[in-house]
Amino acid sequence: MNEAVPNSSPTAVAVKLRVIPRDQHRISRKDISSGALRVLYRLNEAGYAAHLVGGAVRDLLLGGHPKDFDIATDATPEDVKRLFRNCRLIGRRFRLAHVVFGQEIVEVATFRGSSDDGSGDRHVVDGRILRDNVYGTIEEDAIRRDFTVNALYYDIADFSVRDYVGGYEDLDARVLRLIGDPVQRYREDPVRMLRAVRLAAKLDFAIAPEARAPFADLGELLLNAPPARLFDESLKMLLAGNGLVSFRALEQSGLLADVFPLTARALAFRGGDQYRALIEAGLAGTDARIAQGKSVTPAFLFAILLWGAVRAQVEREVARGTDVNLAWLRVSHHVIAEQAKHVAIPRRFGMIMQEMWTLQPRFEQRLKKRVFRLMAHPRFRAAYDFLLLRAVESPAMAELGLWWTQAQETPHDALAEQLAAGVETDEAAPLADVAAPKKRARRRRRGKPAPAAHVE
Ligand code: ATP
Ligand code: MG
Repeated sequence: MNEAVPNSSPTAVAVKLRVIPRDQHRISRKDISSGALRVLYRLNEAGYAAHLVGGAVRDLLLGGHPKDFDIATDATPEDVKRLFRNCRLIGRRFRLAHVVFGQEIVEVATFRGSSDDGSGDRHVVDGRILRDNVYGTIEEDAIRRDFTVNALYYDIADFSVRDYVGGYEDLDARVLRLIGDPVQRYREDPVRMLRAVRLAAKLDFAIAPEARAPFADLGELLLNAPPARLFDESLKMLLAGNGLVSFRALEQSGLLADVFPLTARALAFRGGDQYRALIEAGLAGTDARIAQGKSVTPAFLFAILLWGAVRAQVEREVARGTDVNLAWLRVSHHVIAEQAKHVAIPRRFGMIMQEMWTLQPRFEQRLKKRVFRLMAHPRFRAAYDFLLLRAVESPAMAELGLWWTQAQETPHDALAEQLAAGVETDEAAPLADVAAPKKRARRRRRGKPAPAAHVE
């Protein structure tokens, strides 16, 4: 994506072109998507500059297989639209062209100038937006990018790689270096600090010392970054296949407290190490699901990241005499609201998280009626997966998880009979130990809405 983030005001960035010819780099056209190639060729034939740029060039040079191919050109979005029937223009602050080939969307951005001061003001004269779409040269486009390795251009005209800021060398040395003055670049856009952490973890690169040094002072700028952007960035970091390494890098960078303050606080408390183990197990599980092509949900991720705070606050409320169910409801609502001040949590995910949490105490009530009611709850599966994760925190939870695993594997009637056999305490014996039951009338509870837990 060519993100619409503030530009660098013209800083003293030394621009020196180095051209790496086709026979001296490893980018091969067969690794570029057919859609991107078509756009590159068509632009080139029409007489425009046409380059692959950004993460795609970086990843191709590293031998990876990029998912998205972004293109930079000197054609304006309107020019691009004229060349492609399957093209739509998007973005208001910075116009981009999306060229659509079935499933594939190729993003085409016009070289962006450096005179945008990043203030976000729309400078409108006679209805024309002047400041928002400031086009520039390829050199200006290069220096407004974040890291040197993200500012390499693959030129379709001669298949060379063009490097204006020393990115090719940095790629070789596997180091993320900001273009220009790090402090200034982070002040313009604090999310760049998170991008540094995320990309370093994903690519197994080092962050250049001068790019890491400002974290301590400037990290708190993330406290006021737009929550919607932090939501996107959090998912790219923690829910895109490299969650575990990224989380460790984030904690180590010191920036965790500026994005997930409740998580950082819970990790610093008593029991923090067990909680860290839970988070890491959850992220490892998520990474594995992604590797297997299975679906993952932000709700589960955030439920993990906020669990420490929820559990601690529920304990406190209960100790103060608040009714247990009320405590779970109140605390889960409060914790989500607190976190959402930093990282947006879309409502649909918040509701799922709340249900996953508030169902947790109900796993401990193993009375017959309640067991079946809980199993029929629409959020049972997610809550049960979460319960299994809690096994990391305590042996008691591991046992409880095992009980519920067995319960689900036991046929309905057999389970009903076992439960009817008088396990009427909260500390139920393991299923296998339940004595042979006497027969009782069975009542099906399926389909009946479960009480409580569902919070609007
Ligand atoms: P990924 O592989 O995760 O997609 P990426 O580098 O491609 O990594 P994108 O968010 O897709 O990340 O951004 C594409 C390109 O846009 C980057 O390579 C970089 O050149 C530029 N860019 C993105 N975000 C910023 C930013 N905050 N500041 C400056 N340039 C940025
Ligand atoms: Mg990208």
